Amino acid sequence: MNNEQNKIPQATAKRLPLYYRFINNLHHQGKLRVSSKELSDAVKVDSATIRRDFSYFGALGKKGYGYNVEYLLSFFRKTLDQDEVTKVALIGVGNLGTAFLHYNFMKNNNTKIEMAFDADPNKVGSEIGGVPVYHVDDLEDHLQNTAVAILTVPSTEAQGITERLVEAGVSGILNFTPARITVPDHIRVHHIDLSVELQSLVYFLKHYPLEEEEG
Ligand code: ATP
Repeated sequence: MNNEQNKIPQATAKRLPLYYRFINNLHHQGKLRVSSKELSDAVKVDSATIRRDFSYFGALGKKGYGYNVEYLLSFFRKTLDQDEVTKVALIGVGNLGTAFLHYNFMKNNNTKIEMAFDADPNKVGSEIGGVPVYHVDDLEDHLQNTAVAILTVPSTEAQGITERLVEAGVSGILNFTPARITVPDHIRVHHIDLSVELQSLVYFLKHYPLEEEEG
């Protein structure tokens, strides 16, 4: 995302990719405009929030008309740097890492895993989902101009690998390990712990059951 977007509150920025995906679909269907109600139903964000978010984008919906799909799409493309493919590296080609290498991130956004690293000699030298797997010892040789890395190594390895990634110029890390990694202030880490998410869903189901909607 480019710097212009610093003016947008973080909570709004987090919803941008969600909006982008939906607006992109509408555009493919040839739709010219969309109402905040339609958007709200599709992305499950209340329409007051959508209207406030969109006002930050300079998109002012008109009553009875809605928002201009073309305008929104060009705003999102620009703001999310969608005209440029973001290169991503993946470290740790285990079960989860392998699944990500097979997943086509380009379907929904302009990010692409371009290279993967592992310590296992049986995996090094192979190609998985079209992505070459290099030895983790050679990380620094390959990581030029790569800003983003996905971490799917065992948690004991996470901190050491992180330090090498930071040293090699990576500035964003999507951490799928349960380890809480320490990074310098200018590095952004997003943490996704699938087991914790699952456990929390089960807990919520049990203790905070949702009411069924009447009618
Ligand atoms: P698998 O069954 O293929 O081992 P897993 O997800 O259960 O998958 P993990 O032990 O979590 O296995 O390890 C994930 C991957 O990280 C493995 O492919 C492993 O070889 C790799 N790995 C372990 N240590 C390192 C390291 N220091 N650097 C890079 N990759 C590593």
